[in-house]
Amino acid sequence: YAAAVPELSVDWSAERPPRPALVQLQGDLARELGFDPEQLRTADGIRLLTGDLSAGKHDSGATEDRPRVTTAQVYAGFQFGQPSSVLGDGRAVLLGDLVDRAGRTRDLHLKGSGRTPFSRGGDGKAPLGPMLRELLVGEAMHALGIPTTRALAVIATGEQVQRRRPGGDPGAILVRTAASHLRVGTFQYAAWHHGPEVLGALTDYAISRHWPEAAGAERPALELLRSVIGAQARLVAQWMLVGFVHGVMNTDNMTISGETIDYGPCAFLDAYRADAVFSSIDHGGRYAYGNQPQIALWNLARFAETLLPLIDPDDPDRAVDLATEALETFTPLYEEAWARGMAAKVGVTLPEGAGAQETARALVEIRALAQELLGILEAEGADFTGSFRALADGGAAGLRARLSGAEQAAVSSAAQAAVSDAAQLADSDAAPPALDAWCGRRDALRAGSSDAQRAAADAAMLRANPVHIPRNRPLQAALDAAEDGDLAPFTRMLEAVTSPFEHRAHLADLAGPGAAEGPGAPDAG
Ligand code: AMP
Ligand code: MG
Ligand code: MG
Repeated sequence: YAAAVPELSVDWSAERPPRPALVQLQGDLARELGFDPEQLRTADGIRLLTGDLSAGKHDSGATEDRPRVTTAQVYAGFQFGQPSSVLGDGRAVLLGDLVDRAGRTRDLHLKGSGRTPFSRGGDGKAPLGPMLRELLVGEAMHALGIPTTRALAVIATGEQVQRRRPGGDPGAILVRTAASHLRVGTFQYAAWHHGPEVLGALTDYAISRHWPEAAGAERPALELLRSVIGAQARLVAQWMLVGFVHGVMNTDNMTISGETIDYGPCAFLDAYRADAVFSSIDHGGRYAYGNQPQIALWNLARFAETLLPLIDPDDPDRAVDLATEALETFTPLYEEAWARGMAAKVGVTLPEGAGAQETARALVEIRALAQELLGILEAEGADFTGSFRALADGGAAGLRARLSGAEQAAVSSAAQAAVSDAAQLADSDAAPPALDAWCGRRDALRAGSSDAQRAAADAAMLRANPVHIPRNRPLQAALDAAEDGDLAPFTRMLEAVTSPFEHRAHLADLAGPGAAEGPGAPDAG
């Protein structure tokens, strides 16, 4: 990266933490990246993980040509709708990239590693709680099948940082892996501070790294735009399908790869509410749950603006037309991804081998069905994740039992949503009347499927509707305990969210709603 676009980073080294101690290491990810997890746990490994590239070993064996220079990346961005012309890694360092065992290029990056030329007023540091939060939520997203950056490790620095508590909070470094750290904001920086040459080099780099097929297109920059639009449409649809609220969808927090990045004041919905906001700094609700698709499109329009001079250098009007056409694909792509995901969540099969028109018609029906259910959940103040899982576990009867409130008694027992329990409770007459109509509509859509298709759809529901998401209240409690030196609740929650589709008796208390909505812990960044 530093060689391809030297204008977009500065050579920079991480500060050496005074007393580094490994708090969490993701062994499977370490192996995937070509590291020996046991080696990473040694003093040399921890030196490597805190930014000393002369320490530690990697599968590739290459030591001689290993670059020793690490960098801080520069980027710009629109934060809450306002342009910031210089942001950049204010508390982060890019160690470099490596080729993992599957042949993919992955960045290794440190967050909380000290001040850089882009720190502005910040201290360059990070507290342990928010870094563990990023690790846990990222691992949860990964286990849910959602593209995301992932944390390899969290290392306590041995320093205190001034954040929430009067005496300071324990400091930490997050070791993050990403397909890359290229953001919409990286392109904005290139466009705002440099000419088409740097922008062209950045575009070539992004294409070769993420969208190599775009290189052969008639207009590679347009193809890059289309690719990122598609990836973000699918990504945000996946967020919406699990009730994820990113919380800070600034353009510097939107990747070119289509991975989720930067877990600050993010949260998962408990009760379903389209206007749910968790970030204490999001006063206007710009980044509310239900606004996320629109905001993604707004960010992509900002991305498109940066690419205009490359899309058609000779005809600015033509460039605008082409970019606009590309942006117009976002909503249909998003809606299709969302409707397909909702079909899986509610157990409706799409017609097999159907033509485009018939499929489109089926998707319209599924979208209406899903929206009707969301309306019921919202009116009832029902838990989003729990309601969908009740449908997956117990069918219509399970959902009826859940919404009648009858399942409350069962919530505390393990695997409470088993079909037999749900069926027993199904007679309760307290379920909202609108739900009966909804169940009838769902039955009608399922009636066109064969028994085998319905069985497959039922099985798919169990893989589309998690039991475990990182719930706000238990997560915050686990992070507070970790900062006080007790890692057990965190470890337990990590175990739950990394097998999100399984009911497990000893983790049942983490599956229930049990968490009132409130601000996610702000990243204090
Ligand atoms: P974020 O809202 O997390 O995307 O961060 C926005 C910008 O603030 C980025 O440029 C960060 O590098 C920077 N930043 C956040 N926290 C700190 C900190 N503690 N010290 C210096 N810079 C920071
Ligand atoms: Mg950020
Ligand atoms: Mg952040």
